[in-house]
Amino acid sequence: MNARMAKPSQPAGWHPGGLVVAASLWLATVANLPLWLAMRDLGLFAQSGGWLFALAFALIIAACLTGMVSLLAWRWTLKPVLALLLLASAVGGYFMLAYHVVIDTSMIVNALQTNTGEVRDLLSLKLAAALLLLGVLPGAVLWRWPVDYGRWQRRSLHNLLQAVAALLLLVLLVLASFSPLASTMRNHKQLRYLVNPLNTVYALGYLAGQPLRQGDTALQPLGLDAQALPATAGRPPLLVLVLGETGRSGNFGINGYARNTTPELARQDVASFHNAWSCGTSTAASVPCMFSGLGRQGFEAHRQHSEGLLDVIQHAGMAVLWVDNQSGCKGTCDRVTTVATGEQAHPQLCPDGQCFDGIMLEGLDRRIADLPAARRERGVVVVLHQMGSHGPAYHLRSPAALKRFSPECTGNDLQGCSSEALLNAYDNSIAYTDHFLASTIAWLSQQQAAYDPAMVYVADHGESLGENNLYLHGMPYLIAPDVQKHVPWITWVSPGFARRTALATPCLRDRADLPVSHDNYFHSVLGLLGIQTRVYQRALDVYAPCMLTPADEVAGLATARG
Ligand SMILES: [Zn+2]
Repeated sequence: MNARMAKPSQPAGWHPGGLVVAASLWLATVANLPLWLAMRDLGLFAQSGGWLFALAFALIIAACLTGMVSLLAWRWTLKPVLALLLLASAVGGYFMLAYHVVIDTSMIVNALQTNTGEVRDLLSLKLAAALLLLGVLPGAVLWRWPVDYGRWQRRSLHNLLQAVAALLLLVLLVLASFSPLASTMRNHKQLRYLVNPLNTVYALGYLAGQPLRQGDTALQPLGLDAQALPATAGRPPLLVLVLGETGRSGNFGINGYARNTTPELARQDVASFHNAWSCGTSTAASVPCMFSGLGRQGFEAHRQHSEGLLDVIQHAGMAVLWVDNQSGCKGTCDRVTTVATGEQAHPQLCPDGQCFDGIMLEGLDRRIADLPAARRERGVVVVLHQMGSHGPAYHLRSPAALKRFSPECTGNDLQGCSSEALLNAYDNSIAYTDHFLASTIAWLSQQQAAYDPAMVYVADHGESLGENNLYLHGMPYLIAPDVQKHVPWITWVSPGFARRTALATPCLRDRADLPVSHDNYFHSVLGLLGIQTRVYQRALDVYAPCMLTPADEVAGLATARG
C-alpha cells in the first residue's frame, strides 16, 4: 500500500470507477424506459417473481456496461465514451418509444445510410426533448463531474479489476436468474433489441466485424456469360424497373383494398401479383437482396462482395441507368450510370427541397439518349428508385392537388394522430404512386417508335401503421408482422414487348394469387429481357409460365404438322 492510495480525499474528484458504475446504473434504468415499458406490456412484471427478475435484468445490463466501460476508464476516453452511450440511448430510446421500432443491425445500417431529407422528416419537438433529458442533461452533468484518474499504472490495475468484478457479477446474476431469463428471451425475442445502449453497441460491433468475416472482399463477378437474344423486330426492349418504397400490398385498390387508391392503374392493362413477399423489412436489407439473385436465405448467409442483377444485364451488353429519388441504391448500382434527383429545383415537383417521384420522368428521354448507343441497341433498363411512401411524414409524399383522403396526419409523431388521419396520409401516398406508375406507363407508351417498353413495379418492403401499436418498418424478419413484408408487384408490357417475349398479361392475371417473393425478382427480370446466362433459373422466373418461348413454338408447330 503506498502513500498515494492511502489519501482518497486528495485531490477533489471522484474515482473513475464510481462514475462508471453510476453511469451504468442510469443507463440500465432510466435510459431503458422503452424496455421496461415493453416488459410491463408483456405482463412480465405481473408474473410471480416478476419484479425480482426485472431487478436482476437491470443489474445484468448495468454489469455488462460496467465491464465494458471499465476497460476504457482513462482520462481521454471515459467521458467521451459515456457521452456517446448516453446519446445512443437517448436517440434509440426515443425511436423505440415513438415508433415501437427496435434497434438491430439493419436499423443501424439504415441510420448510417440516411440522408438529410430523411433526418428532416424525423425531427420533432419530442425528439429534441428526449435528446435534452436523456442525452444532453446527463451528458452535461457527466462532463463537469470532477474525476481523479491518478497514475496510469494504478489506473490500469483498477480498470482491469473492476472489469473482472463486473464480469463475475454478470455471471452470478445470469446463473441466478437463468430460468426466467432464458424463457423470456426465447418467448420475446424482440426484447434483446430493446436493451439500450447495448443494442446499438452490438449492431455497430457486428457491422465493424463484417469485413473480417467476409474475408476476401474482392468483388466476385456474376453472369459473365450473359447474352441477350438477338433482336427480332428490330426494336430493343426498354424495361423500367420501378423500385417502390414502403408499399403495403393490402393498401392498393387493384389488390382488393376497400378504398380506391389506384384509380389510374385500374384503367391500365396491368397484372398485379397479390401474394408477393419481401426479402427484408428495410430498404438496406431488401434492395441488395432483390438485386443479388441469391434469394433471402442465400443472401443472409452470403459473405462475399458480389456483382448483382444490373451487372449481369450490363454483361449482356445492354445499357443500364439508375435514377434515384431516395437515399441511394445501397451498393446495387455501383457500376451503373446513376442520377440522383432528390434535391432538384422544380417549382411543382420539388416544392420544399424534396422531390415527388414524378421528377424522375423529367428529362428521362435525354438521360437515356446519353447512354452508349451500342448498348442501347441491345436494350435499356432504367431503375426508378422511388421515395414512394417513405415515413413517417407520409403527408409529404403526395402533392396537395392529388390528395384523395382527408384529414391527413401532418406531423411525424404518428402516435399523436388518429389512426384514420394516419391511414389517410399513407393512402394518399399510395394514390400518388398510382399516379406516378400510370405516368410512367404513359411516358413509356411514347417511346414505342424506338423501343419495346415494359414496366415492373415492386416495393422493397411494407409498413406498420399502428397495428399492435407498431409503426414504420425494419422489425427483424422473423418477428416482423406481415404488413411489413407483403409488397405490391405490378407488371405492364406494351404490345411490342408482349410480342417480343410472347408474354400474355391475362395469363399473369390468372396467376395473381400464386405466392411470389423478392427471391423471384432477379430471374424474372432476366427472363423478361431474354438474357441467357447460367445464373438464370427459369423455375424462379414468375413470367416464364406465361411466355410462349421459341422452343414452345417450334414444338407447337411440330405437333400441329405431326
Ligand atoms: Zn425502404
